[in-house]
Amino acid sequence: MYVGRFAPSPTGPLHFGSLVAAVASYCEAKANQGLWLVRMEDVDKPREMKGAADEILHTLLAFGFEWSGEVVYQSQRTSLYQQAFDQLQNNGFIYACSCSRKEIADSATNGIEGLVYPGTCRSGMLQPRAQHAWRVKVTDEIVSFNDAIQGYQVQQLSRDIGDFVLKRADGLFAYQLAVVVDDALQHITHIVRGADLLNSTPRQIYLQQLLGFNQPLYTHIPLAVNNQGEKLSKQNLALPINKQHAPQLIFDALVFLGQNPPLAIKQSSLPEVWQWAIQNWQNSKISHQQSINI
Ligand SMILES: [Zn+2]
Repeated sequence: MYVGRFAPSPTGPLHFGSLVAAVASYCEAKANQGLWLVRMEDVDKPREMKGAADEILHTLLAFGFEWSGEVVYQSQRTSLYQQAFDQLQNNGFIYACSCSRKEIADSATNGIEGLVYPGTCRSGMLQPRAQHAWRVKVTDEIVSFNDAIQGYQVQQLSRDIGDFVLKRADGLFAYQLAVVVDDALQHITHIVRGADLLNSTPRQIYLQQLLGFNQPLYTHIPLAVNNQGEKLSKQNLALPINKQHAPQLIFDALVFLGQNPPLAIKQSSLPEVWQWAIQNWQNSKISHQQSINI
């Protein structure tokens, strides 16, 4: 049984980049007679834009997406993340860290995604502070997986990432923990998402291993980027997608995904658009690049 998902963050309305991820995950799921779930990744409440979650769901409906079951909101699942956190803590994988940004910057090496935390607080906080984060210990072991589009991926977390934060000093659970718990509890078998999360995947696989969860199959599609090579976002003023032009925009997303849709799709009804997209879906046609300029 195939269970896929689309997991937007409600930091703004859907733009073309998120539509591409929605179309790819939807067509993959439907072409495999699978379920397609929607999860609102609003674990980082301070970054949320008021009303964006509802706006995203209305837009998905207006574009003809049909999801299975209730939409899951990460902000309502804190107790589930706490259970996983407790399990890791009871097994000795977690420690408190009170280091400031400056203290880390002074002692860290460079990894593939910024600084590699040098493990300063592993045997106790150097500067005990009431407000502190919690980190998970990583190992020297190689974490690898075979991505359906990006190919074989390898990381050594101790060298490339370092012990990473699972619970922030403000008490919020980190995305890496929330997404792993949700994917497992929702029985997600296939994850189709933007290549900006490719580097996060070994961390997620590592947490799956520590928590005894199954590992889903990963497909990281190219990211839609602007002229400056930046991911489209509210911050760089990516335009919200217009419901009035749904067939045209789905056509554009299918072109981005290498599917060569016929021009007639632009003038078709939404059911016809989706019927073509799902019947003709071939993920082997997707570009292997990590980003594509639009
Ligand atoms: Zn520390």
